[in-house]
Amino acid sequence: MMSGIRSRNTRPELLIRHALHRQGYRFRLHDRTLKGTPDIVLPKYRAVIFVHGCFWHGHDCSFFRMPATRTAFWKQKFERNMANDELAVNVLRKQGWRILTVWECALRGRPEAEHDRLISRIDSWLKSGRRHLELRERRAKQGRKA
Ligand SMILES: [Zn+2]
Repeated sequence: MMSGIRSRNTRPELLIRHALHRQGYRFRLHDRTLKGTPDIVLPKYRAVIFVHGCFWHGHDCSFFRMPATRTAFWKQKFERNMANDELAVNVLRKQGWRILTVWECALRGRPEAEHDRLISRIDSWLKSGRRHLELRERRAKQGRKA
């Protein structure tokens, strides 16, 4: 089953769900009838939210490390996950859904004040009618050497 690739109910996902719920948003969870099984679906806003773990989705960020062993296996796995993510976005977009992707690195290890800022960005995006938003860690101003 392909659905095994994504972990659900992760900490970032719960944080976002609880915050949105507190603000009065109502939503469905893990809707399997939609491509990619979005984590949070807000029909009233015609919006879906994916909360992506940086490791499983091979995110180009400071949290991702390619495993040192079985590298070819992992590389293939990440590439497949990324291809599935892209396909889901394309299908949902054609169906008229607005799509928000929140990466784990937007929240992980960040102080609470930044969580609040992230939630208010999600809130204003939901009300904006804009088609897409992607939230991730802020990149360092200076290019960091790996
Ligand atoms: Zn990331």
